[in-house]
Amino acid sequence: MRIAVTGGAGYIGSHTVLELLDRGYEVIVIDDLSHGYRHNVPPGLLREITLSDTAAVKAALAEKPVDAVIHFAAFISVGESMQRPELYFQNNTCASLSLFTAMLQAGVRKLVFSSTAAVYGMPQSVPIREEFPYAPVNVYGESKVMVEKILDWFDPIHQFKSVCLRYFNASGADPQGRRGEEHQPETHLIPLLFRAIETGEPVKVFGGDYATPDGTCIRDYIHVTDLAQAHLFAVEHLLAGGASEKFNAGTGSGFSVKQMIESVERVTGKKVPYEIGPRRDGDPPELVADSGKLQRVLGWKPRFAQLDEIVRTAWNFERSRVISH
Ligand code: UDP
Repeated sequence: MRIAVTGGAGYIGSHTVLELLDRGYEVIVIDDLSHGYRHNVPPGLLREITLSDTAAVKAALAEKPVDAVIHFAAFISVGESMQRPELYFQNNTCASLSLFTAMLQAGVRKLVFSSTAAVYGMPQSVPIREEFPYAPVNVYGESKVMVEKILDWFDPIHQFKSVCLRYFNASGADPQGRRGEEHQPETHLIPLLFRAIETGEPVKVFGGDYATPDGTCIRDYIHVTDLAQAHLFAVEHLLAGGASEKFNAGTGSGFSVKQMIESVERVTGKKVPYEIGPRRDGDPPELVADSGKLQRVLGWKPRFAQLDEIVRTAWNFERSRVISH
């Protein structure tokens, strides 16, 4: 079976490529390297193509028959999406449509799509279930809602089957240390906490006055290898003739920013310098998935359920990165 992975040079994509290769799938990676890294892609797999080039994508999909596509390639910064919405609608919505058009032309009708908890906006309650309404509060979330809606029409019209995985907070690194989180610029909490330890420069905690037990925001941190496995199960569901579905991809457990700081201190044995700053615009106080549907329908369950285990894999990768750079 041959799977095309867009954005396979990025954080979650590259972990999923490892999972697919470990399970014996043939893989090609379609990535323009605008954010991903060549060193994340095993030799021979990369097709350096931008998704908006429909003809080039179709040619890559037609080299040898592709059975399904896993589509990660997208811009991911919520803040930037509110300053440059055109970039996000172009790169996340229009480029996805270009990919789907190329897939139709190449006769590929199975897709796993990287969606996001941002489609729910500020949920009325937690845990969040898949049937909660679309209510994005930023352009990033809206750009993903639009793709989910395109897919809703493609199923009955084109018999195009898709699984949308709505990610909560992807975190951690490959337990064997082969891949990890390397965003440029880095905005995610765990790598920023490591950076604070390394530089002594305090990290800003975005708000300490939320209505949560310790006043800081609560998130559902899902280990990137568990998330990669969810993609594997999703693509296998489609390859077995399964129906289109939308799933939350989270663990069902929430941890606060302060709990994350404590975990990083336990794992690293070092103090994290931090200060409580103002709230960040558009940050919901608590985002926790009801992941029951993913567990029931795909038989998935998190292998890294303890926060310290997630942080330990990230810390091992961070140390190897510091040593090798
Ligand atoms: N956060 C923080 N300081 C930072 C970065 C993040 O306090 O410098 C908090 C953020 O408010 C959120 C959590 O850490 O509650 C996770 O944020 P991240 O940006 O990693 O992911 P997001 O939840 O935005 O997808």
